[in-house]
Amino acid sequence: MCGIIGYIGFRDAYPILVKGLHRLEYRGYDSAGIALSNLSGSLSIYKTKGRVSDLEEYCKDKDISGSIGIAHTRWATHGEPSNTNAHPHYSESENIALIHNGIIENYAVLKQQLIRNGYHFRSNTDTEVLVQLIEYIKVLNNTDLFHAVQLALNEIIGAYAIALIEKGGDNRIIVARKSSPLVIGIGDGEYFIASDASPIVEYTKRVIYLEDEELALVSRGFSPKIVTARNVEKTHEIIQLEMNLSQLEKGGYDHFMLKEIFEQPKTLRDCMKGRIDVTGKHIVLSGVMDNRERFLSARRIIILACGTSWHAGLVGKYFFESFCRIPVEVEYSSEFRYRNPVIYGDDIVIAISQSGETADTLAAIELARKSGSFIYGICNVVGSSISRKTDSGSYTHVGPEIGVASTKAFTAQLTVLSMMALYLGHEKRTIDDERYSFLLGELNRIPDKIEKILQSNAAICDLSKIFTYAHNFIYLGRGFNYPIALEGALKLKEISYIHAEGYPAAEMKHGPIALIDMEMPVVAIATDNVMYDKVMSNIQEIKARNGCVIAVVNESGATIREIADYVIEVPSTEDCFEPLLNIVPLQLLSYHIAVNKKRDVDMPRNLAKSVTVE
Ligand code: GLU
Repeated sequence: MCGIIGYIGFRDAYPILVKGLHRLEYRGYDSAGIALSNLSGSLSIYKTKGRVSDLEEYCKDKDISGSIGIAHTRWATHGEPSNTNAHPHYSESENIALIHNGIIENYAVLKQQLIRNGYHFRSNTDTEVLVQLIEYIKVLNNTDLFHAVQLALNEIIGAYAIALIEKGGDNRIIVARKSSPLVIGIGDGEYFIASDASPIVEYTKRVIYLEDEELALVSRGFSPKIVTARNVEKTHEIIQLEMNLSQLEKGGYDHFMLKEIFEQPKTLRDCMKGRIDVTGKHIVLSGVMDNRERFLSARRIIILACGTSWHAGLVGKYFFESFCRIPVEVEYSSEFRYRNPVIYGDDIVIAISQSGETADTLAAIELARKSGSFIYGICNVVGSSISRKTDSGSYTHVGPEIGVASTKAFTAQLTVLSMMALYLGHEKRTIDDERYSFLLGELNRIPDKIEKILQSNAAICDLSKIFTYAHNFIYLGRGFNYPIALEGALKLKEISYIHAEGYPAAEMKHGPIALIDMEMPVVAIATDNVMYDKVMSNIQEIKARNGCVIAVVNESGATIREIADYVIEVPSTEDCFEPLLNIVPLQLLSYHIAVNKKRDVDMPRNLAKSVTVE
């Protein structure tokens, strides 16, 4: 949540900062702002409610000179999106400008203390308290800004990634982080700072990731000085970014979301590359193989996740239970972390997060660690906090996911979970050789089958037009497809703002069927699996009450075609892999309905990517 970008070097900072904000806008987009250390010696802040393009408009007649600056795109937590609440925030004297990602939990107490000491507040944000506190400490201790930041951070409870510049302190940017990512890009005589690598990659591929509770002094002409909040000096390895620029562009698609839906055949091939050896009939997943004994003797698996990743976790439960006969619990990280859960030392905890920065999941991992259980991470962003805080893990390798509504990361999470479960099932002998190699072959064919589904894009677009003005939707599925009903409903809610609920189909008669009438579209996943006849009966019950049914079917689904009002056909596969196929038309349906409604598909209201606040 929120994007941070900073530049110090020999070029004009403004164009670099604005371009960086555009790249980061998916992380928060209710307001944007910029602070520049101008050539005249002044410290200017320009900020406005709205998008980065509004900020550019606002800056048209302003002094945008200077080669040091910081900029921010906000996802409001404290205080409505407004010009004054936008970042950067000045200190009392207007000598310091600060941007912040996260939440200062003890801001109210600190604010009262600062007010008593004569400080005035212009905004309702928690962030302004931090910049005022830093100035207060700086003046009180008659010390320099870096030391003042260090002292102030010891007073703060909460999460932050911050960057600040000072009037007259024109050769440096100070940055710090706790529970929120911050990366420093190392150019030739110039430095970039950012909340993720996406705005940096076009200038340099050499980066340093700050660790929790570290500060860095980034000065022109010197290597960044990194210390902990307790003043212990640190050195960090320089990491080479693997990301490339084309991954951050729309590549001819109208939206990142559509591009990412269409990338899925490739991203799943990338996710499986080197991991499934179909000829040798092996799965090579080093994170699991290196810890084979631990996995095989697991008493239980606990999956921790939020949102779409939680839906992936639910499918994971079906995988592990059916392939390996290991009991699985799937937990919302946000509930788990505050529940005093029972965790055994021989449990395996699997944390799933696209960004690898999800604050609730990070906190849940910390809690699980105390029980001594083994913690495995599944994330997409290389070098992310979760990948560093887990004992082992697998990356999904789908490249940057920019669309706020997750698509390609979800299918890759399912792929990693299925490979883990297949490998373990084979090792435990709960799947025999023949079934194992058959399933490997079938998993390997999934990308080709998704390609086939994508050919129905135009037909799904036509279908979407019938439902543009629907106010509610119900999604139904059973077995492996129950989590897909939940995920299909979530996709629709996220980007079209149409109310949608997912249910296990048989639950309808226990309450939700009361909602059925001609106005209620029901998306039923009715592919040809062991639950087919059961789902058929559930659909009949809906049709008997005049519901309108859109069914996801296979070629073989003759009966369902007679009953359903509309059908979307997908290729057949094994029951266990159906989620990988069946979610794709639901992603497309949501996308087209949202486009019909003229929604901002890549930046839906109130949402943001990478949920770094709890
Ligand atoms: N808590 C801060 C605010 O509401 C920062 C929000 C963000 O991470 O964008 O302004």
